[in-house]
Amino acid sequence: MSYQYWSPELETMSRSDLEALQLARLREAVGWALRTTFYRERLAGVGIRESGDIASLADLRRIPYTTKQDLREGFPYGFLSVPREDVVRLHASSGTTGTPTTIYFSRDDIRRWTDNVARCIYGTGCNRSDVFQNMISYGLFTGGLGFHAGGEEVGMLVIPSGSGNTTRQFRLMRDFGTTVVHATPSFLLHVESRMKEEGVSRESIKLRKAFAGAEPYSEDTRRRIEELLKIDVYNSYGLSEMNGPGVAFECQAKDGLHLWEDRYIGEIINPDTLEPVAEGETGELVLTCLCREATPLLRYRTRDLSGFYTGPCACGRTHRRLRRITGRTDDMLIINGVNVFPSQIEEVVMAMKEVGNNYLIVIEKEGVLDRLTVKVEVGTNIFMDDTRPLNALRDKIRSTIQASITINPRVELHEGGSLPVSEGKAKRVMDNRPRDV
Ligand code: ADP
Ligand code: ZN
Repeated sequence: MSYQYWSPELETMSRSDLEALQLARLREAVGWALRTTFYRERLAGVGIRESGDIASLADLRRIPYTTKQDLREGFPYGFLSVPREDVVRLHASSGTTGTPTTIYFSRDDIRRWTDNVARCIYGTGCNRSDVFQNMISYGLFTGGLGFHAGGEEVGMLVIPSGSGNTTRQFRLMRDFGTTVVHATPSFLLHVESRMKEEGVSRESIKLRKAFAGAEPYSEDTRRRIEELLKIDVYNSYGLSEMNGPGVAFECQAKDGLHLWEDRYIGEIINPDTLEPVAEGETGELVLTCLCREATPLLRYRTRDLSGFYTGPCACGRTHRRLRRITGRTDDMLIINGVNVFPSQIEEVVMAMKEVGNNYLIVIEKEGVLDRLTVKVEVGTNIFMDDTRPLNALRDKIRSTIQASITINPRVELHEGGSLPVSEGKAKRVMDNRPRDV
């Protein structure tokens, strides 16, 4: 395979050159940060008063972590480090886990972010001949405008379709010959389920690629989308605190997500001890943004769980690769004392061919115990009135989940298309247990 690079020099630069660039940019980012009261006080506490106090990359570890809570406390302008007049845009996180947080961009910040997204898109083999339908919500959420700008930068024809409304999405695909889409993996599965109902044949659309992100999904889910829609799916990772999309992305080797280390410094820490984990181990991803002057963030705790692959990538890029993000530290469910990540259940159900494209995890209190129910849509190859195969499937799902998480769930089978779908990030867990007071 021949790989194409958007910025060949930056993407394939030697590790020592990359580290020298990181150090220069870290100093610059510390300089930006020192313009805010928050960082001036935080950094003074560890003896950093000017950017020159960062002598080497190892000095990064002197800097205290910044948390989502810090960002919330600084709302609305606490982290703004340029005059208000120099800000040309703001974005906010979607607030999956609480109050939203706001990020400000200067004109240069937007330019750098756009370049990051263009680098990701181009690295999957897209070019000016592509028609790109951005099936994700526009607005405060960064996925819409971020991918939109990156797509235009590459020179593709960008259709700002937004999310939802599959009928209109199919019409746009057919009318304009869409070749690439961007969506959440759950919306892509929904699109696939709707195709037959809306009478859309695979031959009538030219789709060949999708960027899927904004929420965790398993390798089996990727494979499922690729096989059902007959397209190539690339994992896209980002968060509004780090601009949005364009932080880490899969290349055509599809073997981990390159973290763009000229623009971000990544660390993996143990979320309990806050110490770095051993090379290659899983932990919480901590990111330092080297490319945003208007809202600098140093050693930001993302709460996302991942780890670095060690070793070079077949594509020739030198930027380290993150493993598929399996979820957040705060996604973890404790069910009868057992720690369970929703992704463990997804891995089981999405690997089964008899299972349809949607599922839901429900936890309730039954007496003193927690009760886990997994609701699963069945595939189109299974008939709801044929009890024998249904019972067998139910047993198979139950025993495979139990083997994976040690908890014996109740399994409910539902007809395809009957479980709730969300147009943005999927809500797959309903924890109905009363909260402790
Ligand atoms: P919110 O924190 O409110 O969801 P964002 O819209 O900024 O706000 O979402 C960023 C978060 O989405 C990330 O921190 C991560 O948890 C999740 N996410 C984004 N892309 C991926 C991906 N490819 N795989 C797994 N999780 C992802
Ligand atoms: Zn690669």
